Amino acid sequence: MAHDVTFIPGDGTGPELTEATRRVLEATGVGLSWDVRQAGIDEYRRHGNPLPEATLDSLRSTGVGLKGPTTTPVGSGFRSINVALRRELDLYACIRPCKALAGVRTRFPETDVVVVRENTEDLYAGIEFERGSAAAAALRADLAELGATVRDDAGISIKPISVFASERIVRHAFDYAVAHGYRKVHAGHKANIMKFSDGLFLEVARKVAERHPEIEFEDRIIDNLCNQLVSRPEEYDVIVLPNLYGDIVSDLGAGMIGGLGLAPGGNIGTEAAMFEATHGSAPKYKGQNKVNPTALMLSGVLMLRHLDEGEAADRLEAAIAGVIKKGDKVTYDLKPTRDDPSAVGTSEFADAVIEEMS
Ligand code: NAD
Repeated sequence: MAHDVTFIPGDGTGPELTEATRRVLEATGVGLSWDVRQAGIDEYRRHGNPLPEATLDSLRSTGVGLKGPTTTPVGSGFRSINVALRRELDLYACIRPCKALAGVRTRFPETDVVVVRENTEDLYAGIEFERGSAAAAALRADLAELGATVRDDAGISIKPISVFASERIVRHAFDYAVAHGYRKVHAGHKANIMKFSDGLFLEVARKVAERHPEIEFEDRIIDNLCNQLVSRPEEYDVIVLPNLYGDIVSDLGAGMIGGLGLAPGGNIGTEAAMFEATHGSAPKYKGQNKVNPTALMLSGVLMLRHLDEGEAADRLEAAIAGVIKKGDKVTYDLKPTRDDPSAVGTSEFADAVIEEMS
């Protein structure tokens, strides 16, 4: 029986990338029944809502989504759709494998790390108080009573970290390590400075680690973690992080394996799982059939594994790796120079992956 999957093209380069990914997923032979739903800035301009209820309902009903990137306007307009989706569907774990592929020029060819990012709280919780607002003034007054001074021209963002959310994300990281044969979990934090938020995250991580004597556990202060990751990437396997550090370290990992065009992701929750690339909508390349669909295709590989289609996932992953290793039918970002005339487009890369699989 076919798997029902919610298919969200997104905006910017999203529609081209999702189309290329849909084609390679179908070429695996796995039965997939797509429920196409909209989200993003184009949908906002058409109907005034960037994340229609029908899209959320579809995700709740299928339980699985493949999503193209969506643009978040800076400063005004609407808040991030991704943040809203994660919150609405309680997609609490963001899994971002960063594995260097043969044929990609990178200074870090031994990189094989998985970033497990907490998705629901921290500075992404959306608890913000605008400079000059009545709410900010009330909060400053309460803080002053508690002995904490905040300047009256400050905007304020709150960073909640709970035992509940820390526990389940660290558990997820250990379960991931066990299921995928990794030996180590590192927790990143800044507990020396933020004792009651990052400190709590670390305390919980240590407790969860005690239940997993078969997996090595260490913690790293986040700045040191970044330094060590680029000095000795081979020493890292699974890295579990609160939301903001997870976001930043994911992009660091993407850079280490050769660029954003190669870094996949999955957002796993209690109600649904949604798969999307680490990168954004790259709007300057919209409609040019230019950008690299590998990150979204590898997100599709993660989706197939989530659907228990492991054999098809292995075949698709091997085909993507095969095309990249050969190096002729790859997009501009994987060529020695960005203006290499032999670079192929998004859809031709998909053709090459399908040919490699057959
Ligand atoms: P971006 O990831 O869209 O692009 C930055 C640059 O990275 C591009 O200009 C391009 O040079 C390169 N790049 C990205 N994806 C690539 C690909 N597949 N192949 C080749 N090169 C690629 O980041 P941005 O420009 O900071 O963000 C654009 C928009 O995307 C913003 O509105 C941002 O909020 C949004 N965004 C969305 C998501 C998401 O939907 N999951 C994630 C991150 C950013």
